[in-house]
Amino acid sequence: MAGPRRRQGLEELRSLLRSEAQGLPDAALVFELLPYTPKRELLRAMALARRMRQVDEPTAAALMLALASMVGEKRRQELFSFLQLDDQVVRAAMLLALSMAGTPPRGMLREAGWAVALRKLGRVVEQALGMTWKRGPGAQAQLRTLLAGLPARQRSQLEVLLDMWAPWSGPRAAPGRRGAVRKKLLALSPRERGQLARELLDLLGEKVGEGRTSSKPPDPHGETGDGAETKTGQGRTGHTRSTKPPRERHVNVGFAPEQAPAQPQRASEPLACGGESFFWVEIGKRLEGSIQTGEATLPPELPADAVLQVALFTFPGELQVRGEDVGELQLRPGGSHVTRPAARPEGVNSPSRLFFRLLAPKAPGTYRLRCNLYYEKNLLQSYLVTAEVMSRPAQRREALSARRDYTLSGQLDPALLRAYPANRLSFMLNGDEGTHSLHAFGGEGGQDFKSTATLNPQRLGEHVKLVRNALAKASYGVEGPWSPNSGPGYRYETFPGVKALTEDLRLLAIRGYRLYSDMVTPLVGGKKHRMALEALLKTPGRLQLALKESVEYIFPAALVYDYHFDTNAPAHSLCPVFTEALRQPGVPLERTPCFQGKCPSRGQETVICPSGFWGFRHPLGIPLSVGDGEAPPSISYQGGVNVLGCLSTDPAFTERDKHLKALERLKPMRAVQWLRSREETLRALKGDGPHIVYFYCHGGVTSSGLPYLSVGDQRTEAGITRDNLTNAFHDAGWEPPSQPLVFLNGCHTTALTPEGMMNLAGGFVVEGNAAGVIGTEITLFEPLAGPFAEECLRRFLSGAAIGEAVHGARLALLAKGNPLGLAYVPFAVPGLRLVPEG
Ligand SMILES: [Zn+2]
Repeated sequence: MAGPRRRQGLEELRSLLRSEAQGLPDAALVFELLPYTPKRELLRAMALARRMRQVDEPTAAALMLALASMVGEKRRQELFSFLQLDDQVVRAAMLLALSMAGTPPRGMLREAGWAVALRKLGRVVEQALGMTWKRGPGAQAQLRTLLAGLPARQRSQLEVLLDMWAPWSGPRAAPGRRGAVRKKLLALSPRERGQLARELLDLLGEKVGEGRTSSKPPDPHGETGDGAETKTGQGRTGHTRSTKPPRERHVNVGFAPEQAPAQPQRASEPLACGGESFFWVEIGKRLEGSIQTGEATLPPELPADAVLQVALFTFPGELQVRGEDVGELQLRPGGSHVTRPAARPEGVNSPSRLFFRLLAPKAPGTYRLRCNLYYEKNLLQSYLVTAEVMSRPAQRREALSARRDYTLSGQLDPALLRAYPANRLSFMLNGDEGTHSLHAFGGEGGQDFKSTATLNPQRLGEHVKLVRNALAKASYGVEGPWSPNSGPGYRYETFPGVKALTEDLRLLAIRGYRLYSDMVTPLVGGKKHRMALEALLKTPGRLQLALKESVEYIFPAALVYDYHFDTNAPAHSLCPVFTEALRQPGVPLERTPCFQGKCPSRGQETVICPSGFWGFRHPLGIPLSVGDGEAPPSISYQGGVNVLGCLSTDPAFTERDKHLKALERLKPMRAVQWLRSREETLRALKGDGPHIVYFYCHGGVTSSGLPYLSVGDQRTEAGITRDNLTNAFHDAGWEPPSQPLVFLNGCHTTALTPEGMMNLAGGFVVEGNAAGVIGTEITLFEPLAGPFAEECLRRFLSGAAIGEAVHGARLALLAKGNPLGLAYVPFAVPGLRLVPEG
């Protein structure tokens, strides 16, 4: 009867599917439509929710919320593990999900009456989700009252959440949107609603580049006995019902002749000059024909159905890839399964082996290729593949070989591994043979970005010096190393004014842009790739730069400035939207358009905006390779966080006591131990238990050129050098699950460069098994070091990942007119975070 009206409603809803700026569905639509999703598609929606986290907040939050109300308890917990707690929308979503479900994660708040009260409160939070966005001290107060009656441990956990929740801010949308959407939906037939829900998932999948497996997932409501689906090997594909975990996850790589690709080529058989062949990767039992030397297994706790991206990177003039150089393998109980082939050799029917087509150089010689394995855009492992190429191939020992020379992790907790958030972009920088080669891999929306390039270390060194000097000039007025007797001293003790800030940002932007223009274009492999990179990095997303210890210079990623402008214009002004934000200290910069990828000054010839710096726009992390050690994605604690503080007793540190008091007040803190001598420090480092090791100290370089940290009394006590760390940790390091983050907050250090820092950082990571280290680009001063550490650690203790904690602290200082947060360098995976246990 109401046929035309129904059709019209359907069309209106379809148009809402792409109503957002990024072509994403309206949050209200997601929320209302998802319950009509066929049950067997729910797991797909779960996978999408996980990937959505970096695409668009309201849509992602709505997806998570709707899912939380539909799936079983275990799935809901899994869903919560995807959340980033430093994200206001998601925090709100979490609280709403708590209330809607009535069964909060880990069974908290089960007491009678709480569910009802929370449900009521949930409506307040619900409004936050895109309809009306309220500033709600009222809601806060209500929640706190509710929490007062809870057992202490549950209360403290939720209070931490609440502390992070405030203050409200965010987008406003037309009220009543959801009601209107619901009305239209109800006018449709159940079949039409189901169809729309499927279209919704397709659209989201298209936006986030979901895995290309077409399969029938098991019923997500089914709760397996032990609750750990990823452990039991019951993959989402449903191809197998085996409950046994895969026995082996050996990464087999090798070559195969062009004529007989099914047959692996023996390691003793070189390639022919100018000849074609195949390179292959297969995960499972150790295979004959595999050419690695040394260790080559995947972390056993990687989810049983993890999809790994395999990307080959070539060196100029060496082995080349013909055709596709990225493929995908999904882990299955029996081994790997190709979900995205690269090459399809004729006559080979091997669903478990991923092939790439290679071309050998015409001249004889020994040539290389790099094979990287990624999980959720995190670089897991990297293999350097070497092949001898001969005009008349004759057998020789190890003519073909592969060696793993980067590994992110040795052993990982499965729950923590799931918590590895997807990176937007992952770089790897090598110090091979006098050049820096950089491999970038990333992408979203199904578009892979992949590139490889070689950097001239000397030119990189020149740029590094220039950008660091610009930072030094902003900090203490001199372009060069700091010394106590030179220059005007620290310039940002109080805000020096918009004019001075503009001058400092201008010099930083000019040099940061020249670094970008001169190094990044060749680095990503040309202009076309650079444009792809610009599109990829327009909005905030995590960047990971994996460093091998041998690199000569640390690529100063935070100082890259990528908004195109005229560096030689006689004058530049500061972005008006940013200066306006400076005048409103209550609004976090993260929430302003500039830092959400919508800076109106981008591309203007003479206007600069701090959001053009990677360090102000993106959470970054630079993990060091850890050999066979562990770089955990999280640090778990019980009851509270333990901090070991290693202090300089220099009376010139006038702000130390105030700073230490502020740190002691951080939540959830359990114990702080302050150490005031070298001996005490070295002894305490060997003990276990710290989650954070904090150095508030001096540092420098010895007369023989060794970087050192100075704790205690620098007049009477020696420094701590890298070999002292080897000694301290010679028989053991920190043990999982409490491998600490080491924060090197060196003040008034002289001549200690980031490379020197990395030398010490490497000591903590390689010898001590630290989860990560925070260092600095230039000499810092107490008025910056104290507030930065307090802000960064406050966020980190509250559950923010280290990339976001550093980024947030940078922006918090910037909001007060201080750009020097850019001086901090996090040597850790950007997703590293503290996680409460139990
Ligand atoms: Zn701006």
